[in-house]
Amino acid sequence: MQNFSQQRSSLLAWLQSQGIRDQRVLFALEQVPRELFVEQDLLSLAYADRALPISQGQTISQPLMVATMTQALNLSGRERVLEIGTGSGYQTALLAQLAGKVYSIERYPELARQAKERLSHLPCKSPVTLLVGDGTLGWPEAAPYDRILVTAAAPAIPSALLDQLAPGGLLVIPVGSEQARQDLQVVQRTAEGFSTRSLGYCVFVPLIGAQGWKESCEP
Ligand code: SAM
Repeated sequence: MQNFSQQRSSLLAWLQSQGIRDQRVLFALEQVPRELFVEQDLLSLAYADRALPISQGQTISQPLMVATMTQALNLSGRERVLEIGTGSGYQTALLAQLAGKVYSIERYPELARQAKERLSHLPCKSPVTLLVGDGTLGWPEAAPYDRILVTAAAPAIPSALLDQLAPGGLLVIPVGSEQARQDLQVVQRTAEGFSTRSLGYCVFVPLIGAQGWKESCEP
């Protein structure tokens, strides 16, 4: 029997030591049990600070990266958020604690189905809509979004996502080669256009789609 609560506390202390300061983000990380989102045979690594494999050859992202991206969204609790790459649903569950309304798109129906099942067992503060499709095109039906979070690496920022960002809104996205590390970028929609800053290097699975990489880029 694993002591997940103790492991979660240790991970939180580590994340704080690595620069995660947003108290709301830390509280959400404390509330969402990561062990519910990892594969059964990897339960002992649920609170290790590393990405882990999930089905369809995808990953649940490293906790420090999840925390860094979530902190960069600077959420107050009222925002409409679009997430691209539901994966396990862990990041979606965090967003549901921190935003006003969450839309999340996954290209693999099986991953979306599993994420829906997991989320149904958790008390999400805000409504979550899970969608299956090509997230590089965003979800125009519910645009604009105050925040857009992309959890897979794009060759360049998809124009559809910029189009669907609300004035003053933030887009957090890894950009760069599918074979090496990428640059984690934060884009803000300003009165003049868009401003971009970098949060440093990261490593993500490829964003596959019409405004992403072609299918053959996947391992
Ligand atoms: N945020 C996830 C979590 O907490 O488990 C991790 C996401 S994983 C690193 C990236 C996900 O993006 C994969 O599940 C992959 O199938 C998905 N993906 C890749 N291209 C996509 C696209 N065009 N639209 C939607 N999802 C996509």
